[in-house]
Amino acid sequence: MDAAVKGKPLYIKMREDDNVAIIANEGGLPAGTKFPSGLELREHVPQAHKVALVDISENGPVIRYGVVIGYALQELKAGSWINENRLRMPAALGLENLPKATVKAVKQEPLSGYTFEGYRNPDGTVGTRNILAITTTVQCVAGVVSFAVERIKRELLPRYPNVDDVVALEHHYGCGVAIDAPDAVIPIRALRNISLNPNFGGEVMIVSLGCEKLQPERMLPPDVIKVHAVDGQASQVCLQDEVHVGFMSMIDDIVAKATVHLERLNARKRETIPASELVVGVQCGGSDAFSGVTANPVVGFAADLLVRAGATVMFSENTEVRDGIDQLTARASTPEVAEQMIREMAWYDAYLDRGSVDRSANTTPGNKKGGLSNIVEKAMGSIIKSGSSEISSVLSPGENLRQKGIRKGMVYAATPASDFLCGTLQLAAGMNLHVFTTGRGTPYGLAECPVIKVATRTELARRWHDLMDVNAGRVADGEVSIEELGWELFRLMLDVASGRRTWAEKWKLHNALALFNPAPVT
Ligand code: CA
Repeated sequence: MDAAVKGKPLYIKMREDDNVAIIANEGGLPAGTKFPSGLELREHVPQAHKVALVDISENGPVIRYGVVIGYALQELKAGSWINENRLRMPAALGLENLPKATVKAVKQEPLSGYTFEGYRNPDGTVGTRNILAITTTVQCVAGVVSFAVERIKRELLPRYPNVDDVVALEHHYGCGVAIDAPDAVIPIRALRNISLNPNFGGEVMIVSLGCEKLQPERMLPPDVIKVHAVDGQASQVCLQDEVHVGFMSMIDDIVAKATVHLERLNARKRETIPASELVVGVQCGGSDAFSGVTANPVVGFAADLLVRAGATVMFSENTEVRDGIDQLTARASTPEVAEQMIREMAWYDAYLDRGSVDRSANTTPGNKKGGLSNIVEKAMGSIIKSGSSEISSVLSPGENLRQKGIRKGMVYAATPASDFLCGTLQLAAGMNLHVFTTGRGTPYGLAECPVIKVATRTELARRWHDLMDVNAGRVADGEVSIEELGWELFRLMLDVASGRRTWAEKWKLHNALALFNPAPVT
């Protein structure tokens, strides 16, 4: 692949039977460009966009990743640019008769001896950060809590150097919602599980309004607090409580309760912990046609290393795996795991159908500009993040790994593909480290968990040099192999888990929590 470095024209073909390839050169290539294979471009083809390698007849299949990603809407001669306007998308795969647990993953040697410096929690989980999170039951309290958090950061935090941050778990749920609707279980359990994320050290502090539908006991029942919180107890502030006379009384109460938690968090020390305690959530956003060529294969290789080290890795994004569901059910460890995956897809198909759309609603203008013609092509590049391990478990949206007894392996955590919803639900699942790949570029970050961002292209990594943590464009440039960069990413994950700051943390770039609420609002 090192031809691209020297400025020679280069295309990247993924599989032997593909009849298209993507242009690797920055800025694309002009009409008349000749490749060593003899192929000549008939028109300008932008970087990351597809070129026909052979003549494709009208209605003929267009094949990338060894999969039909569409049918030609017109005759496409060899050397033609293939974009979303020249392709008809295939129908979604049926969910009947899928292969179940038919692929036996090659047994890989376990990896031992890899560790990081983390924080052990009373419930057995391990944190990579030491954060005081203030849980809220309803959006009504958000302004008061953020006022208090500002004061805590200004006046208290400098006295507690071992505490990384104070974060209000603010959200739009809690009232004005059909809280007894069957699907309301998703946002409620998500909020409960986010409050107990390993990066919060088992310190549970709840601020409620008083009259909201989501009462504190419903969000965090006493038996849950007993298991997960330090000393089995949470502290609570209720703004409508009669003890509060005036705004400052509420602020003083929140600050006083926070002080107790900060004292305890500050007394904690990092200790050496096996890599098996990592819970890594992977996702992509702002994808381009390089995502499936550089960044996602690198993440997939690192994911396999994590699984070999006994860690837990989650991949997600329902609409971005839907078109590859046959590959995933085949990789399931058992037919039951495959069935669970199919149930999640069927539920999501029905959810989209209720809104009169389907999976094709996923792709964005940026995806198309980046060469991704449709969701089928995007999905093929997306699922590569999951590596090659067997898929051993499935989580429904908002569920938590530990509560389901899942302690290791490659997990399909069903979530929407929206970056914020996916990240929020992976936090609920128990993620303590996040890896995010992007081709178009996004400054995405979370206050609750470190996010390692991987650029798919060197041009993006160069332009966003102080936002991207890893440049996977080096793979297309011929500088490193997927395996070499996969190892590099694996080691970086251990460093970041041990406290090394990511760019998003350095600039304090935090996206809001975004709950997935498929239930009605009132
Ligand atoms: Ca995403």
